[in-house]
Amino acid sequence: MSLGTFASAGVDSKRQRAVPLPHTNANMKTFTPDSSIASDVIPSANYGDRNKGRLPDMIVLHYTGMPDVEGAIARLCTAGTDVSAHYIVLEDGRIVQTVPEAKRAWHAGVALWAGEEDINSCSIGVEIVNRGHDWGYPEFPLRQTAAVIALCRGIMLRRNVPSHRVLGHSDVAPSRKKDPGEKFPWHSLANSGVGHWVQPAPVVRGESLKLGTIGDDVSDLQQALARYGYGLPINGKYDGTTMEVVTAFQRHFRPARVDGVADHSTLTTLQALLASLPEEAKAVAAG
Ligand SMILES: [Zn+2]
Repeated sequence: MSLGTFASAGVDSKRQRAVPLPHTNANMKTFTPDSSIASDVIPSANYGDRNKGRLPDMIVLHYTGMPDVEGAIARLCTAGTDVSAHYIVLEDGRIVQTVPEAKRAWHAGVALWAGEEDINSCSIGVEIVNRGHDWGYPEFPLRQTAAVIALCRGIMLRRNVPSHRVLGHSDVAPSRKKDPGEKFPWHSLANSGVGHWVQPAPVVRGESLKLGTIGDDVSDLQQALARYGYGLPINGKYDGTTMEVVTAFQRHFRPARVDGVADHSTLTTLQALLASLPEEAKAVAAG
């Protein structure tokens, strides 16, 4: 079914914004969507095989970061751009699948999580249509968030993805990426069983670790972030890399203040997250 058919099927047509779609490459074979709630398939030219048949057990959420939907879909589907994702979630909640889940989509780029570097091989990539930080960064509409939740729940069930492996692009590539960003409602996802979350500790005045700090407290922080999954060296120096990772952590888990400073609230929230990881994940983190 094309998006046009869907829009004209009378489903809330007044609120549907007409989404002009790029013409699908005639050479591209269509496929049956893996998710029963995907309304459309627009096959992307950009994908390959998962390395060594690695089965996906992670979901990486992105925003498209482009001014319009048409351009975003074209970029993710056209040969030569070298980028893609398995799913695109539109602002009105419609879900388009562009790469079969069995295949390796090209969404994460140079990335690292829990010691694993080929994030594209171990994950399902979901692009959420949002203009992003460079274009005004609007709020994520409720119906879009609801669609992301429903899509992720299905993937988690089918692929056995644990909650703590539903991540943002910024988590796996903190030095390069901000998406889906601090406005993304991770707490709403967690309320519906998607993603790992604890109530962030309140921001209070007090001592904090920041750029330039050296010492055991910084090593402890780096160790804790690495145990959770972030990629960073444990060297006791609050360097630029540490600051980027703390910033990524805050965007996801303590969005009230995203400043790269490890204050009491950041440290407490990180400890609470580590303590609430499932036992098998703790064993992996400790190893
Ligand atoms: Zn991204």
